[in-house]
Amino acid sequence: MHRLTLGDFELLCFSDGTYPLDGGAFFGVIPKVMWSRKMQCDEKNYITAGLNTLVVRMEKARTGKQTVLIETGMGNKLPDRMVKFYGQPAKLLDDLSAGGIAPDDVDIVINSHLHFDHCGWNTIRDKNGKIVPTFPRAKYYAPEGEWQYARKPSERDQISYIPDNYDPLVASGQMTLLKGGEEIIPGISVETFCGHTAHMQGILVQSGGKTACYISDLMPTSAHIELTWGMGFDLYPLDTIESKKRYYARALPEKWLTVFTHDPRMPWAHIEKDELGKMVAKQPAT
Ligand SMILES: [Zn+2]
Repeated sequence: MHRLTLGDFELLCFSDGTYPLDGGAFFGVIPKVMWSRKMQCDEKNYITAGLNTLVVRMEKARTGKQTVLIETGMGNKLPDRMVKFYGQPAKLLDDLSAGGIAPDDVDIVINSHLHFDHCGWNTIRDKNGKIVPTFPRAKYYAPEGEWQYARKPSERDQISYIPDNYDPLVASGQMTLLKGGEEIIPGISVETFCGHTAHMQGILVQSGGKTACYISDLMPTSAHIELTWGMGFDLYPLDTIESKKRYYARALPEKWLTVFTHDPRMPWAHIEKDELGKMVAKQPAT
């Protein structure tokens, strides 16, 4: 298991499994001769994408541990037509359980955006088929702009939005919608990074003078850290580049830990610029 201490926080990485994605779509305008050096593909051109959930735990006076879940993978409610493309690994609850975390232990759930592969385990169907929160005690948070957009998405990405993952939580008041820039609890805040979508938020975790950032689909894997290596899925590719510049302006000098949402092997890394100006992802010492 991937585990780190960041100031007063314990950071743990869990996975909902892996799924196939078209390598060309995953690397946008980058030629295959370049991206295939960093990520292997199969005979159909599929690469293997991970579904990483970051858990932040901290001791809390009186109530014991507080558990924050950042991103909830693909879940187990995909319609059949999507299972055909992506499969449905649905491993997150088992993986959390193996790490000693039960759904009732989760206090806070944060979604960077509302694409189906980022908020799938927000909800499950109960035995009567009703959509209920997977983490019954948790307060949920997601970007308000994402939720507004998800109600009327473009033809291009409407397949990525599954309302059962968030609408029941918004309707019941269990999900709070964020403008961007809010501190959710001391040390955990969100910041909007436009590019992949207009309102996607990175989640900043700060303690003891150190920072980790779940940068989500702005840089889905350690193979996407160069400025121009964006995904074909990005709705605003030029903004992806500007958002990465803004991110690196602080993340490089302050040596942030970057958490990758879709990297099946390297869920987090310190990103550095080498002497030739190339971005390098270095595994943190554990
Ligand atoms: Zn996405």
